[in-house]
Amino acid sequence: MSFSSFGLSENIIRAVTECGYTVPTPIQMQAIPAVLAGADLLAGAQTGTGKTAGFTLPILHRLSDKTIKGPSSGRPPVRALILVPTRELAAQVEESVRNYGRYLKLNSMMMIGGVNINPQISRLKSRVDILVATPGRLLDHIQQKTLSLEQVEILVLDEADRMLDMGFIRDIRKILALLPKQRQNLLFSATFSDEIKELAENLLNKPILIEV
Ligand code: AMP
Repeated sequence: MSFSSFGLSENIIRAVTECGYTVPTPIQMQAIPAVLAGADLLAGAQTGTGKTAGFTLPILHRLSDKTIKGPSSGRPPVRALILVPTRELAAQVEESVRNYGRYLKLNSMMMIGGVNINPQISRLKSRVDILVATPGRLLDHIQQKTLSLEQVEILVLDEADRMLDMGFIRDIRKILALLPKQRQNLLFSATFSDEIKELAENLLNKPILIEV
């Protein structure tokens, strides 16, 4: 099994090869075809399993494969929203997005709390295809009307159990209410409490289940 067998675009394979990856990890073998097919996903995966590339690579492929939706004027739409619990994880995930997407014409942004909001507001005036965000600061931007989520095509909840442990459930529900109904949802969690199961039931539409 190699990365080229998934049907990912040449520009993505090139970046992956440059990262030194030769064989997909078990989660990647299952997640990449499912996400490419447009399915919702419920994945049980710890950090260190290669889960980030497991969702990032097919998202990059899907977004670069399709023409950009949305209005021709006004603020450019965010097309993929990746919610993460911590600033550290946001930085890691956004770096992966940039790294694997280095030969694509897609732009990403990291949006975290604890830093000045003004540079983020300036950044949002230009194109952000893929937004990696922590929930609190995302809602600050929504309140200030510097961000719209009306065109999100793909939502990822990464380390969903940690987000719930950190008390983000209300923020997550507020964010979900702002997304278009028609979208692809990917939920990654290391553990499956009743709370996670309930969130998954509400969020996911006939998900493919992956456990590694
Ligand atoms: P993650 O679980 O997404 O945090 O990834 C853990 C580490 O595995 C990261 O440092 C990745 O760069 C690395 N990695 C991801 N996929 C592969 C792969 N297919 N082969 C080798 N290393 C990988």
